[in-house]
Amino acid sequence: MGKGFFNVPIAVNEPVKSYAPGSEEREAVLKAYKEMYNAKIEVPLYINGKYISTGNTQTMSPPHDHQHVVGSYHLANKQHIEDAISTALEARKSWSLMPWEQRAAIFLKAAELVAGPYRAKINAATMIAQSKTIHQAEIDAACELVDFLRFNVQYMTDIYLEQPESTSDTWNRVEYRPLEGFTYAVTPFNFTAIAGNLPSCMALMGNVVVWKPSDSQVYSAKVIMDVFEEAGVPPGVINVVFGDPVMITDTVLASPDFSGLHFTGSTFIFKELWKQIGNNIHHYKTYPRIVGETGGKDFIVAHHTAKPKQVSTAIVRGAFEFQGQKCSAASRAYIAKSLWPDVKKYVIEDLKSFKMGSPEDMSNFITAVIHEGSFNKLAKYIDAAKADKNVEIIAGGNYDKSKGYFIEPTVLLTTDPKYVTMCEELFGPVITIFVYEDNDYENMLKLVDNTSAYALTGAILATDRYAINQATEALQNAAGNFYVNDKPTGAVVGQQPFGGARASGTNDKAGSAQNLLRWVSPRLIKETFVTPIDYRYPFLG
Ligand code: NAD
Repeated sequence: MGKGFFNVPIAVNEPVKSYAPGSEEREAVLKAYKEMYNAKIEVPLYINGKYISTGNTQTMSPPHDHQHVVGSYHLANKQHIEDAISTALEARKSWSLMPWEQRAAIFLKAAELVAGPYRAKINAATMIAQSKTIHQAEIDAACELVDFLRFNVQYMTDIYLEQPESTSDTWNRVEYRPLEGFTYAVTPFNFTAIAGNLPSCMALMGNVVVWKPSDSQVYSAKVIMDVFEEAGVPPGVINVVFGDPVMITDTVLASPDFSGLHFTGSTFIFKELWKQIGNNIHHYKTYPRIVGETGGKDFIVAHHTAKPKQVSTAIVRGAFEFQGQKCSAASRAYIAKSLWPDVKKYVIEDLKSFKMGSPEDMSNFITAVIHEGSFNKLAKYIDAAKADKNVEIIAGGNYDKSKGYFIEPTVLLTTDPKYVTMCEELFGPVITIFVYEDNDYENMLKLVDNTSAYALTGAILATDRYAINQATEALQNAAGNFYVNDKPTGAVVGQQPFGGARASGTNDKAGSAQNLLRWVSPRLIKETFVTPIDYRYPFLG
């Protein structure tokens, strides 16, 4: 950018559309859903701007109708991954020199493509293959992805504006270089927006990327690939590969040019990748950046001064939207004894009103969980709870995988605050409740803090300000995103930068300048105008 200091458009959050009966957007998304549901797409790899069909394919089916096939995707072999790496390194030669305003324009255009012409398609893809209701698809695949793209451009310019002091004789400048080498994005099934953000935010900062989406998110990943291509991301800058995650990761991490991992997914996998990077450390040309947002065991604490209807709504929305498959989903709740009868009544009433089925029927609040592995795992926990004397099933407890992977929203009540479902991430529509004595609040906060390895999100509901303050202090390290009088889900880009600590991740806050800083390696340039010509200092006399 040699000829002007350009201002980027001020980032604003994309408004969430209502999809109320009779609305234009509802008709558009249902039309896209029907067309896509009844067609069969093929998703090739995308390397160096070319679509690569490998012939080795895997079918894609909606979790709510697992015998129906909506398409297939192609699986990479080792040579494809090596091609993706070498093509990325080749593309880096031009991309790392591309002026920032050109990179900004590409991703601002991508944002507008998702907000406009691709909105129905990306939402329908997310409804079909990840079983999101239209509201859950809209806040994720459309709005959050648009927000990431818009806000990241603004954060990039904020970063570039951070410059050191200079004097009249010395001009100090910092340039925010992309990492040397290539980066690796590994994304989860549960958020289309995260899948789009992880590779694109690194590319925005001038990096080149090998992106491996989750097998369960390939359908909407294809829409993202189409958007990036139409927005003008040059060949080789973001390369998309599918297939055996172990083979792909082994190949990527074996490259001496590997320079950064941007991961979102489960804690165990992230720790394994970190270990593998550590084992390879002597082979790399540079110390790789490692960013990982991982699992959660997110809590709701209700003080006895909280309002029962607010507590029950936080539980019902926080635990069951998108079948509890959010890293932030409430999955353990601590309720003061005096509140419990009312909270229980309201939760049961709400759950009775839930309808479960395909997202195409927009009266359904609950759809299927992502795949058979997840279904079987959840069924096992529910069966164990049924057989445990310390646990009572307050609501739900049934499951059925004959057509889709349907797990009834389930509320467990336990007398053992360390019961397995109070500690482990289940990643489904199951919440466990522990009722504590009203006057045991302080001990209960300690219990919340030390029950689980995770520290992603958590919420305190109370009207007593002292109780709110006490929880805020006592739970300082128990959550990276802490909510007062709200559910612990639903972070918005630009408003609540998201991430947790402990076993929940490196807390580099997706959707913030902090995250983007991980993908640059600053170079300081000091320029002296009158260069010294004598080594002697005055003190030498
Ligand atoms: P996952 O860990 O199963 O998969 C994540 C990614 O890792 C996928 O692309 C997968 O193919 C890949 N992967 C799996 N095994 C691998 C291996 N051995 N080597 C390399 N890559 C491998 O997670 P998921 O089921 O897709 O997503 C759910 C998890 O993600 C939950 O634990 C959830 O809490 C977490 N999550 C966290 C956040 C956050 O911001 N903290 C956001 C979304 C999801």
